[in-house]
Amino acid sequence: MKKRICLFLLCLALVLPGCRANPVAEKQLFAMDTVMNLTAWGSGGEAALEEVEKLLFSLEDQLSVTRASSLVGRLNQGQTVELTPEFAQLLAGTLELSQKTGGALEPCLYPVTKLWGFTTGEYRVPEPEEIQTALAQVGRLHLEGSTAYLDPGSQLDLGAVGKGWAGSQAVALLQARQDVTGALLNLGGNIQTYGEKPDGSAWAIGIQDPDGDGMVGVLHLTGTWAVVTSGGYQRYFTQDGVDYCHIIDPATGYPARSGLTSVTVVAEDGLTADGLSTALFVLGLEAGLDYWRENRDFAAVFITDSGEIYATPGLDLRQCSYRTVEG
Ligand code: AMP
Ligand code: MG
Repeated sequence: MKKRICLFLLCLALVLPGCRANPVAEKQLFAMDTVMNLTAWGSGGEAALEEVEKLLFSLEDQLSVTRASSLVGRLNQGQTVELTPEFAQLLAGTLELSQKTGGALEPCLYPVTKLWGFTTGEYRVPEPEEIQTALAQVGRLHLEGSTAYLDPGSQLDLGAVGKGWAGSQAVALLQARQDVTGALLNLGGNIQTYGEKPDGSAWAIGIQDPDGDGMVGVLHLTGTWAVVTSGGYQRYFTQDGVDYCHIIDPATGYPARSGLTSVTVVAEDGLTADGLSTALFVLGLEAGLDYWRENRDFAAVFITDSGEIYATPGLDLRQCSYRTVEG
């Protein structure tokens, strides 16, 4: 009898190896204005997701543009703020991306995005004079040693980079723990993968159809990656039959109309993926591809207004009819 029970337990262990050696933990939370779904595998999965949740809330506390006490709030009140090394890296990296994209990514665009109501939900089409006045308020972010400050009247909005950067911060946390074998962090459409799935198969990440509910294709990736999509369909309002999206062209102060409906960027670093998805959406296909040819530290999938899909070489993009761009 004893032998039989032992045999039964052994069989059970063999049938459910993933469950026993590699339990799965899941968590859902609302942070940074979006629903986030976290999944982690490994003996420390449960505890790790608790830590990731705390981390995300604490980053939200600092990045929020509507909280006066946040890092961004204090900068926007004209204060000189002492930075932790992590936030110094975020701000320096954002400035670098802004400079490299010729200002298509503009972290000090808050006077303009606020006018359109995208941070408050009070959407409206501003008068041209209001837009000109707001554009004139777009100044510069300064970093000096471990401190930051803004030009007088300037206002920072890290909405274009915050979630991607937070994904990389979460990866650093998981790496330090060493008891998580893999994780899939869906930070409101900003996807961060970490490590391996229990069965060793690739991460399968759908790219949403900007014109419908379904997917236009599925990206297969192994290992640790940030996959971030910026799309006009993600947040917009319609007035007099015209759609106005939340991604603003800093050159005009109006929602970007570059001929793209979405850009997905795959990069090792979350800040790069998030910042570039926004910037390339503003730049459009041709300028976006020029940027890729000059830098090549990421891969991208572009979807145009007419539904054509272009991908940089080397991506494993399935169930999708697309053209690979020339190197
Ligand atoms: P994402 O969803 O990552 O593309 O970021 C869009 C968000 O970033 C918007 O909701 C604004 O808060 C902000 N934003 C809009 N346009 C820009 C821009 N050109 N540069 C930087 N931030 C922007
Ligand atoms: Mg972005």
